[in-house]
Formats: sequence, structure tokens, C-alpha cells
Amino acid sequence: MAIINCPNCSKRISDQSTFCAHCELPLGEMSQADVARLELRRWRRRVWQSKNVTYAAMTALVVGAIWWWLAEPQGWTLPPPVLPIGLIALGGVAYLAGRVWLFWLKMERNRPRPPRD
Ligand SMILES: [Zn+2]
Repeated sequence: MAIINCPNCSKRISDQSTFCAHCELPLGEMSQADVARLELRRWRRRVWQSKNVTYAAMTALVVGAIWWWLAEPQGWTLPPPVLPIGLIALGGVAYLAGRVWLFWLKMERNRPRPPRD
């Protein structure tokens, strides 16, 4: 008996089980191709999520920069106001995190194999 990750919810389950104990995926009724398809779908969903993180981060950067410009006194004055620079810093960190996550997902060993019937 070995421990595998559920192809749907990625929690740890026994390879002997016919159902995932966490998401009730009927593993016993699934072919290798079905499992590969599920893993591919889950990987694509994560790529989409990581891209959304970077888009939200870029939005935070732009909003933070505009806010800094508009805050009194006007212009990008130093020292920067606390809230806009906080938003910019948060956006920068989130952008990096999203890019690292996307890079990790696209690494060869983390890509699912395409389904073969
Ligand atoms: Zn599951």
C-alpha cells in the first residue's frame, strides 16, 4: 500500500481506496486517462489562479502609485504617505509570490502528463 495524492483535491490518500475520503472522488471507477485529465484540469486552474494573483498585485501597485500622487502634498513626495506605500509594498510582494508560484507550476516536474487513452 502506498500513499498518493488525490488527483482532484490533492490530499493524501491510500492508493488502494476506491473513494477519496476527502472529496469522495470515485477513484475505483476512473481510468488512468481520467486521472490524468483531472490532474491537468487542476494544474490549469492553479496557473489561472497564480496569474490572477499577479494581475491583482499589478492593480495594487498602480492604485498605490496614483494614491501616493494624489495624497496631500500632491506629487510623489518623500517621505511617502504610509497607506499608499503599504499598498505598493503589498502589491510588490504579491506580484513576486504570484510569479514564483507560476514559475514553480511550469517547472517540468510539476507539469501533469497529458492524458493518453
Ligand atoms: Zn480528493
